[in-house]
Amino acid sequence: MSRAEAILSDIFGFDSFRPGQREIVEAVAAGRDVLAIMPTGGGKSLCYQLPALMREGVTVVISPLIALMRDQVRALREAGVEAGALTSGNTEEETEAVFSALEAGRLKLLYMAPERLASTATAAMLRRIGTSAIAVDEAHCVSQWGHDFRPDYLRIGELRRRLGVPLAAFTATADAETRQEIVARLFEGRAPQTFIHGFDRPNIHLAFAPKDRPRAQILAFADARRGQSGIVYCATRARTETLARALTEEGHAAAAYHGGMEAEARREVEARFQREDGLIVVATVAFGMGVDKPDIRWVAHADLPKSIEAYYQEIGRAGRDGAPAETLTLFGPDDIRLRRAQIDESLAPPERKAADHMRLNALLGLAEAVECRRRRLLAYFGEAEAEPCGNCDLCDAPPATFDGTEAVQKVLSAILRTGQSFGAGHVVDILTGTLTDKVAARGHDRLPTFGVGREFDRRGWQAVIRQMLGHDLIRPDPERHGALVMCGGARAVLKGEAAITLRRDSVAAAWRRPVARA
Ligand code: ADP
Ligand code: ZN
Repeated sequence: MSRAEAILSDIFGFDSFRPGQREIVEAVAAGRDVLAIMPTGGGKSLCYQLPALMREGVTVVISPLIALMRDQVRALREAGVEAGALTSGNTEEETEAVFSALEAGRLKLLYMAPERLASTATAAMLRRIGTSAIAVDEAHCVSQWGHDFRPDYLRIGELRRRLGVPLAAFTATADAETRQEIVARLFEGRAPQTFIHGFDRPNIHLAFAPKDRPRAQILAFADARRGQSGIVYCATRARTETLARALTEEGHAAAAYHGGMEAEARREVEARFQREDGLIVVATVAFGMGVDKPDIRWVAHADLPKSIEAYYQEIGRAGRDGAPAETLTLFGPDDIRLRRAQIDESLAPPERKAADHMRLNALLGLAEAVECRRRRLLAYFGEAEAEPCGNCDLCDAPPATFDGTEAVQKVLSAILRTGQSFGAGHVVDILTGTLTDKVAARGHDRLPTFGVGREFDRRGWQAVIRQMLGHDLIRPDPERHGALVMCGGARAVLKGEAAITLRRDSVAAAWRRPVARA
């Protein structure tokens, strides 16, 4: 048994490491700079706590979550580990106890809120007490791309340089931009050893379906899973109530849940869900944070989530017990419009909006995928999978595809020739040679692209356009009433330098597909 394994069982009381933990523990204990990306609940804290016990000196842990720091300190103390926290929530006695343990050289782990770093005395103190390593929890807080930027995190890089000690950074948020910023700011550009682990939830079946008749689709999905606990996520409060009613009318035990409800009523739904078997909660994203029910058997999205991260978190509430769980995510053009509008209308700075659009695009790409969804999802989180998973709708029934390059070129040229000033409906009118008043008034019936798209009907072209949105070849411009404009790799496709594969089913049958695996 290695020393790490001995500490794992003696101090932490665990029989074995979780996937990924051993490698991270060894690298951190060896004093290397480390960036570790693991999902929430993956067991990050052990990856800096255990090495702290293997190393000389004090490991300083920087975390923005005061309650979490206090919990960890309490748990460590109970396990007989000398740990303390310096936070704004401390009583004077607590702070004094921490300092005397430090002066006596007894402390192994010192937790600290990032605000502390603003004081010049802190760096001097950390040097004096023999800090031998820094661990940074929620490392994405150093990134402006991320969702909870903390300016004080920017001081960590300098602290590391001044102390000359190794740094280990941990986060559950892993997109490439955030990762780059973490490396630039915490490690000052010197690449740390990077670990990405544990994002796969192999027991969760993944499925998407174009939104056709959402109420019927969700009812069919729930019907096939009668008596099982499930969550239906909706984009609006009103929709949670109508869908909950519809499910109840069909004889399901269902309850709505959203942020507009009284706290008391919300708690009651939470308690019922925890206690009862087979309750369906129809909820906005307000539901979930406090839910810790291991046997949620399914999660359905009646509306498209706002990003690939949100999707992953929400489906991740299913099947925590490891037994098979099912998911279904509906998506349609209205969802895409709504999510784009929410991003554009938010008060976030422009870089943040651009990042949010990219996260939405990643989800649309997943929705329109033509091969194993899990591989694509894990690739987004940086985990490479060699084989198709065998547990997603696309592995169950690989969709027929076709070379859609020519169709995409037709759409792009219709968009270009009309000055990137019109929405999908008008573009489809031009392609299908439909002489509407608007087409006639603009003289668009005289364009060379007028009527060149007779191979598909209107629905077919709508489906091509939807997939183009998913591939980020075009985007509705909010400044111009949603007119379609070209972006990303569109030019390369137009010039014949890149090919595009499209799904045949959605183009041929457009929106009339049956519910996936109902
Ligand atoms: P994270 O910070 O990644 O969200 P935590 O560090 O809080 O996750 O760990 C999540 C849970 O997993 C905790 O209850 C922890 O005790 C448990 N855990 C961590 N490592 C192991 C292990 N090797 N074996 C069993 N349980 C573990
Ligand atoms: Zn698959």
